[in-house]
Amino acid sequence: MQYRCPKCQSPKIMPVAQAGQTTPRPVVPKSLVMLIPAVFVLLLLVLISIAMWIFGDGAGTTLQSITVAVFVLCVIAGFLFYRDLPDFKISMQAFMQSQKKWKCRECAHEWEV
Ligand SMILES: [Zn+2]
Repeated sequence: MQYRCPKCQSPKIMPVAQAGQTTPRPVVPKSLVMLIPAVFVLLLLVLISIAMWIFGDGAGTTLQSITVAVFVLCVIAGFLFYRDLPDFKISMQAFMQSQKKWKCRECAHEWEV
């Protein structure tokens, strides 16, 4: 099983959905579902804080508390995801192996495993 295009060696490949076959989805851990939006919210809050420091008298205490709370949430979610990572990897590998048809996004080459 290779995760590269046999034609151009690009790693940018995607599975092609097969008709009449339900594609199994990898089990995405809840910690990852929590981590991604938490990181985005944290980035947004940090940007707002920076903007407030530049254009105003600095971030308000409410904003600072929210930023700290979201940061703590990110750390917890990150830690939980770190623990879920081995299971997630196995689930992803099983998903990759169950895919028979692949398509390259680089050169549009299609092939079957
Ligand atoms: Zn290719």
